Amino acid sequence: MTPAMADPFGVLLDIDGVLYVGNEPIEGAREALVELRRQSAAVRLMTNTTSRSRREVLEHLVEIGFEVALEEVLTPAAMAVRHCRERGYRSVELLVSERLLEDLAPLQRSGSARKADAVILGDLGSAFNAEVLNGAFRLLMDGAELVALQHNRYWRRADGLALDVGAYAAALEYATGREAVVVGKPAQAFFLSAMADMGLERGVMVGDDAEADVGGAMAAGLPGVLVRTGKYREDPVMARVTPTAIVDSIKDVPSLLARILPA
Ligand SMILES: [Mg+2]
Repeated sequence: MTPAMADPFGVLLDIDGVLYVGNEPIEGAREALVELRRQSAAVRLMTNTTSRSRREVLEHLVEIGFEVALEEVLTPAAMAVRHCRERGYRSVELLVSERLLEDLAPLQRSGSARKADAVILGDLGSAFNAEVLNGAFRLLMDGAELVALQHNRYWRRADGLALDVGAYAAALEYATGREAVVVGKPAQAFFLSAMADMGLERGVMVGDDAEADVGGAMAAGLPGVLVRTGKYREDPVMARVTPTAIVDSIKDVPSLLARILPA
């Protein structure tokens, strides 16, 4: 064990594009996860998904052969619950996929279309329409806070590119003149909360999104490793983020740790 490895550290991993793409595990990812567990004190998997509940994220991972526990999976919905509790919000309006409701169950839903402490914005898919956005807009103008589960611009679904949560959040931000509170990646609070969850101060983040995964982690003071799998491409975001390391896939991460972890 090299000196850099002597102190305990945690490993934070993005899921989609790092461990698998669709139903296919990335080559060597299962073995890499086992090795990363062996080297580290704890592992947390951080996803920005707004279309699957935490339980569904876990089930999918287990189904394709990854050994993961529910406590290790962290999602923006859990951060939204925490944020609303910290602010003492009594009622919230939920604009999220049905499948996410189980993760947001601790929050009291607003029974009225006219008053809420916060509007939680996730993915409504084809249910996003002008009327729904206008309803949210009115709540915000009456004082509700906009809490966005993530702020991604777009994503790739089976039939092509599609607007993601960030695009709808931007419409509401533009109309109200107020910025949303983003609880998913790249929010520093999400990374800091993941480290606190492991009870560790040293850690590293591995992701395929230069902006949300790597940029977010590095802003929170962690080394960020970009993998060339999943959504990775050489895009303009790279000009604003200089990852601590860039590797072909998660397979290359275990041999890299001693070199990039802070002493
Ligand atoms: Mg990803």
